[in-house]
Amino acid sequence: MNTIEFDTEDILWIGGNLYCLTPESLAVVLERLRTIGYNAEDMRDPETLTGKHRAERGVTVEMAEADPYCYLWYINLQDIRQGKCGSCNELISTLGIHSHGHTCEKCGAVTYRKFVDGTEVKFYFRGVERPMFAPDLWMPAKRWEAEEGYLYLKYEFIEDHGLFAFSPEQAEEYLLANADKWELVEEDGEKLVKVRYVDSFYVDPESTISLMDYRGDERNFRIVKVWDGVEYSEHSPDFPLRESYHIFECWRWERLEPSPTLHKKVLHAIGNHDDKGWHYQDGRPWFRPESFRQMGLFVRYFTTLDADAWDEQSRRFRLDGPGGIDDVARFCHPDAEVEDRPNIGNFINGLTSFGSGRPMTEREARAMKRAVDEDPDTQDFVKGFVTGEMPRRR
Ligand SMILES: [Zn+2]
Repeated sequence: MNTIEFDTEDILWIGGNLYCLTPESLAVVLERLRTIGYNAEDMRDPETLTGKHRAERGVTVEMAEADPYCYLWYINLQDIRQGKCGSCNELISTLGIHSHGHTCEKCGAVTYRKFVDGTEVKFYFRGVERPMFAPDLWMPAKRWEAEEGYLYLKYEFIEDHGLFAFSPEQAEEYLLANADKWELVEEDGEKLVKVRYVDSFYVDPESTISLMDYRGDERNFRIVKVWDGVEYSEHSPDFPLRESYHIFECWRWERLEPSPTLHKKVLHAIGNHDDKGWHYQDGRPWFRPESFRQMGLFVRYFTTLDADAWDEQSRRFRLDGPGGIDDVARFCHPDAEVEDRPNIGNFINGLTSFGSGRPMTEREARAMKRAVDEDPDTQDFVKGFVTGEMPRRR
C-alpha cells in the first residue's frame, strides 16, 4: 500500500499508521496531509465523530494522550467514492445507489434491484425457535413489491450444497410447518408464496422472514474512486493514497516496561490478533519478515526492551501464527501470558483437513480436541450431529 515519505526521522509508519515522535513532526505531517487533501480529525475535539466516540467510551483527553495504544488523529480522504451508471456510464452519487428501484440521476435507468425473477433467496421464518446451525431455506424469487413490503417466491426449493442444508422434502416440511407466515397465491397458473418482507436496514418487526443471503440481484452500477481527476476501480491496487489511518502523538508516552502482556501491544501495533487460537493451526506462514521489522520499530521507540536484540533474534522468529506469537511474547517477557482460546474455527479447519485427507499437524489436532473439550459452541455443534437434532441432508 502506498505510504507518503517524510524526510525526517521523527515520523514512523507502523502497521499503516503514523507515529510522530515530536510535536514538530506532527505539525509537518498535518500540514503535508492537508495539502494533499486529507481530512484530519482531532479526537480530543468532542465535536468530531471520533471525539464523540471517545467521550461515549468514558475516555478523557488526558487518558487518551497518555495511552500508547490510543490514537489522537483520524486521517481520511472524504468523498472519493462515486457511482458509475451501467447504462449511461456517467459518474453519479453513491447515495441510495444500492437500494432497490433507485434510478440514475443522469439517465433515469434503475441502478439496483435486490430481487428480480429468479433471484435466489435464503431465509428462515422469524418468531419460531431456531437452534444454532439450523438450516435455512433457499427459494427463487418472482418479484418484490418493495413499497408494500411483500415478496413473492416461486413454490420451488433450491438445493443447497452447504454443510447445513435442507433436502427439498425437508424444505417443504419446514415451509408447511410455518404456514401461518405466508400465503399461497396463484398468478398465470403459477403457484407463488407471498411473504411479508419490508425493506429495512434493520430487522423489520413486520417481516415474517429473516433474510440470510441472496444471489442473482441486479446491479447496474459500479463504484469507482476518483482522485485528482483520475478514476480507479473500487479495489484498484493503483490507487495512489492510503484512504484512512491514525496518527499517534508518541512524545506523550512513557516507554512501556516488559510485562506478561506487553506482547499484545507489540502485536496490535501491526493490527495482529494476540490469541493463538484465532490463527490457523496447521503451520502455514502468517507473518512476514516485514511484520517483525515493523513490530521492531514499536519495540525500539516505545518500550524499554533491547531493540538491537529484537532485530537480531526476530530474524529467526517463526512465521506461522501461533509460533510467531509465542516468539514475540517470549521476547517481551519470560512469563508472557499468551491467549490460546479454543474455538469452533479450530474444529472446522480440522474437519476440513481431515476431509481433504491432508495430514493434520499435532497442534491442529490438539486445537481441535480442545475446542471439543472446552468450547460450548463446538460442543453444541458436535451434539447436533451425533443426536441428529439438526436436520441434515438426506
Ligand atoms: Zn445513467
